[in-house]
Amino acid sequence: MAKNPIIIIDLNFQGKPHSIASYLIGYSGGAVLIECGPGSTLPALEAGLAREGLSARDVTHVLLTHIHLDHAGAAGWLSQLGAQIIVHPNGAPHMLNPEKLIASATRIYKDEMQTLWGEFLPVVENQLKVPKDAEEIVIGDLRFVAINAPGHAEHHYCYLFENVCFTGDVGGIRIPGYQYMRLPMAPPELNFDKWRATLARLRQEKIARIAPTHFGIFDDPEWHLREVEKDLDAAEKWLESVMPSNPSVDELRVQLIAWMNEQGRALNLDQRVVKAYDLANPLDMSADGLYRYWKRVRMAG
Ligand SMILES: [Zn+2]
Repeated sequence: MAKNPIIIIDLNFQGKPHSIASYLIGYSGGAVLIECGPGSTLPALEAGLAREGLSARDVTHVLLTHIHLDHAGAAGWLSQLGAQIIVHPNGAPHMLNPEKLIASATRIYKDEMQTLWGEFLPVVENQLKVPKDAEEIVIGDLRFVAINAPGHAEHHYCYLFENVCFTGDVGGIRIPGYQYMRLPMAPPELNFDKWRATLARLRQEKIARIAPTHFGIFDDPEWHLREVEKDLDAAEKWLESVMPSNPSVDELRVQLIAWMNEQGRALNLDQRVVKAYDLANPLDMSADGLYRYWKRVRMAG
């Protein structure tokens, strides 16, 4: 048994299990979270902490893999209770001044913004910690290493802890019980080559378990990373096959959903599982990400 076991708190996003995780590690000084989820799931986070005899005030540090709302939305609130927030340098300015982040999310989610994500408060300024790539983060007797991990977003770190790698979104989306993966291909910084380079870097680390935020801790990191890479290759090939006909972003959405549903049928996924994946990773968003990637990266040369 590990000295400091990792406890999975299911944030039960939108009332559904296995969508967004927060990982809790207790130590002599309190508790560390890897990801804290959005503001809307704070009650579930607090309930998860309470099950371990803890409250939100016991959280001394939150390691964010990146600043997307489903990972980082509650960080400002936790910082107001005293937690240090650890984030990639590219994400740090937005954690202090989230107005732009909130405005761009509101353009996507409109009047569902509050229901889905709740409040996104700014992080208290002197409680933001910005480690460098490969820097060791020491918290009591716990040791983490930040690994720069672009591909899904330019503000993305993975964190190594003992033999576990917390992969945020760059490790894809995998729901427990299924040997099936999906990639969150969000705009505007999706980049296939950078994502592949991140996977190559992760393969150089000694990883025995892999913990994507969506969802859980898996003990087959080699299969997992290979599957992410296969999915990247397949998505890029698919994009190359559909973009020459110059679809609009709306047409691309329809085609992506059809392609994904076809995959789901081939694997005999039941509808409940497909829904769970859609919740963790709306396909509309991946279509936008693919579209922007094509125009911004591929068309640019
Ligand atoms: Zn993300």
